[in-house]
Amino acid sequence: MKYEANIGLEVHVQLSTKSKIFCGCSTRFGARPNSQTCPVCLGLPGSLPVLNKEVLNRAVKVALALNCKIAGKLKFDRKNYFYPDLPKNYQISQFGEPLSYQGYLEVAGRRIGIVRVHLEEDAGKLVHPELSVKTSLVDFNRAGIPLLEIVSTPEISSPEEAYRYLSLLKSILGYLEISDCNMEKGSLRCDANVSIRPQGTASLGAKVEIKNMNSFKGVKDALSYELSRQEKMLAGGERIIQETRLWDAAEGVTKSMRSKEEAHDYRYFPEPDLVPFVIEPAEIEAIKDQLPELPGSKKERFKKDYFLSDYDAGVLISSKDLADYFEECVKSYNNPKQISNWITGEVLAQLNLRHVRIKELGLLASHLAELIKMVDSEEINIKMAKQILPELIEKKSSPAEIVKNRGLVQVSSKDQLAGIIDKAIEDNPGSVKDYQGGKVRALEFLVGRVMRQTKGMANPRMVNEILKERLKNS
Ligand SMILES: [Zn+2]
Repeated sequence: MKYEANIGLEVHVQLSTKSKIFCGCSTRFGARPNSQTCPVCLGLPGSLPVLNKEVLNRAVKVALALNCKIAGKLKFDRKNYFYPDLPKNYQISQFGEPLSYQGYLEVAGRRIGIVRVHLEEDAGKLVHPELSVKTSLVDFNRAGIPLLEIVSTPEISSPEEAYRYLSLLKSILGYLEISDCNMEKGSLRCDANVSIRPQGTASLGAKVEIKNMNSFKGVKDALSYELSRQEKMLAGGERIIQETRLWDAAEGVTKSMRSKEEAHDYRYFPEPDLVPFVIEPAEIEAIKDQLPELPGSKKERFKKDYFLSDYDAGVLISSKDLADYFEECVKSYNNPKQISNWITGEVLAQLNLRHVRIKELGLLASHLAELIKMVDSEEINIKMAKQILPELIEKKSSPAEIVKNRGLVQVSSKDQLAGIIDKAIEDNPGSVKDYQGGKVRALEFLVGRVMRQTKGMANPRMVNEILKERLKNS
């Protein structure tokens, strides 16, 4: 039997505001444990939460970017449960009336529904010192950090689509500059709901929740594992039970954690200390006006204005920094196609090699543009340009300076090349015969000889032309 997958993703995003959601405590990462707490985020009796306005602004930005409807009134609920990292025994969240709902994200031409985007506070963190098996410590610095929960409909159909959804979502959050989206620091966390059903049937299968995935690749791997586990179970006549499972990246398997509690187990009820907060339509309009150009429209504009392929435009807009960098290069030298080739090829390779982002690479847009211009005007050839690139990054001098210092001027003089070409023809009669007999590739060999002879400094276009001419006449 063929099965189809229904995957829903819950993404928690930590908003990078300076202070917490309901108090003035700092949100700085890595501070001494419990140094950033106060009666409000510790939930001491008599303390009263006050909503941080900047948190609300950022949440509305995200909701608008995800095409959501915004609730006119902001209402919070208490989600009651006991856990040692939760000092109040409840978390302030939103249940019945989320900030926003019914949005969508367009992923590679398909609309994935967004059920809701709502605000909540983070809990503390338990610390288990390695040396002492009997002690657990708790750090409340994270309690009260503002979180956004973004819940998709369960219509994601494959692990690959989940990966694309998350990548696009992260890119949009980056464009909005509302979070650092660093999964290692926990500012972006993702849980997944997975079920399968026989293809073509209407009702959803039993839902398994997967937690503990800490990279997008982890999400993809965990989903692939879980889907095949469920398929095997159904094929073997077993029943899938609704439960929460943990992803064990080291072993590459999901493991049962607990059977799933239902929402009503949490005993949500309205948070009495926060009065319902009205969001005026004019405020929403003002935030809408401030939204930057988002990845989807930027991609279309890049394709239209710069005649780039869908793939190239997609790579360039993947982060706002990279897209801005591309446009800065184009301003220096108007050859978008070549600039795009260089950025998606050599520059990205350098970023991966050095594990940095474009802003940290230290390659001035004007320098890259100048380098490409020198290749186009045949001052240097592409091979030299590729050699120079790491030096541009490390030394920060201009391409012209490096070319001059290294004496790297391309040999484009016919007279200089003629002798070397004649010698190559003389030394390789076999290749000459092959070429003249119709083996076009034999020419590449001869070009290669000339390039080697000139230590890569010859102008390959001219070498090609002169060689062809000579071989025709001889
Ligand atoms: Zn506080």
